[in-house]
Amino acid sequence: MTKKIAILPGDGIGPEIIHESLKVLSCLRDTHGVSLTWEVAPFGGAGYDAAKTPLPPDTLALCEQADAILLGAVGGPQYDTLPRELRPERGLLGLRASLDLFSNLRPAILFPQLASASSLKPDLVSGLDIMIVRELTGGIYFGQPRGIDQTDSGERRGYNTLVYTESEIQRIAISAFETAMRRQRRLCSVDKANVLEVSELWREIFVDTGKQYPDVELSHMYVDNASMQLVRAPKQFDVIATTNMFGDILSDTAAMLTGSIGMLPSASLNATGQGLYEPIHGSAPDIAGQGIANPLATLLSVAMMFRHSLDDNESAERIETAVSRVLDGGLRTADIAEGGASVSTQTMGDAVVRELAQL
Ligand code: NAD
Repeated sequence: MTKKIAILPGDGIGPEIIHESLKVLSCLRDTHGVSLTWEVAPFGGAGYDAAKTPLPPDTLALCEQADAILLGAVGGPQYDTLPRELRPERGLLGLRASLDLFSNLRPAILFPQLASASSLKPDLVSGLDIMIVRELTGGIYFGQPRGIDQTDSGERRGYNTLVYTESEIQRIAISAFETAMRRQRRLCSVDKANVLEVSELWREIFVDTGKQYPDVELSHMYVDNASMQLVRAPKQFDVIATTNMFGDILSDTAAMLTGSIGMLPSASLNATGQGLYEPIHGSAPDIAGQGIANPLATLLSVAMMFRHSLDDNESAERIETAVSRVLDGGLRTADIAEGGASVSTQTMGDAVVRELAQL
């Protein structure tokens, strides 16, 4: 069956890096016979420019009907003075909510060719391959009640609520176990069960869900220890599953272990496997239009899209192998060149496509 992809280039470097992804999709379709169609739509600041809203109704309709969505990035200084509800980032929140994208997969992969770019010693991180599964639509970022008010004595007080229902925990647990099944089958659930009741429930439901996945080795770790272990011995982890806020923090730490923001993909999935795929970096307005952005995080997001939403591991592996071979050949964009020679966005994209065509 032909798979349909909604393509949202977005803002800043978004259109430049998405341009390279379209070459990869064309190569898979034309050289490898993968049955694909795609349609491009305005989103974020570009959505506002086209239709006065960051998530135009036609764009949302396209995304709802697609098997997967590929996003460049959104945002830019020209949109920072818009009313909050019209800002590009609101489009992203709206899309996540509309499609119920509750499971955020954030890999931290360090290609051995780039081990010296990490702030950790190369032997600690070379070949690092962690997947963080972060709950994305619940927890303390959304819990009610929330606000700032006054106590009876007139003192101001701020509060948020950390709340998870059983079903919210169960669906992220299933997503995490399924992810672990596709990898080394080791899942570490990160919580704060020594202090928080909500974490006790989280842990209980992970243990229960784990009974359906006897092949996955489940362990538990407190979040403070997990943050320490991530910088002490990160290769001990295969899959980490955690709540929205803990995942927000741990996934940024894990990303930085790799030394380059331009290399890391991400996915946000719903219960039907439909997903939004995007690099973890933003729209990089400081380098937009210069043709020097690293397109590899976006190309690796395309690989994740084939693996997690399009049920096509072969294409995913082809893209990842092509990227690895290009790095083996020594090609680097400026962000990963460590002061050495660098190539343009387009040259990097073309090199990946050349390798891909031969695989
Ligand atoms: P950023 O990730 O855009 O940039 C941080 C730094 O990394 C910059 O120096 C940039 O040049 C560099 N960089 C980022 N991606 C790169 C790439 N592919 N190749 C080479 N260098 C790259 O973060 P920021 O500067 O904090 O934010 C810029 C804009 O992006 C803001 O409007 C922000 O709201 C938005 N943003 C969007 C998303 C998203 O679309 N999901 C995520 C984060 C930030």
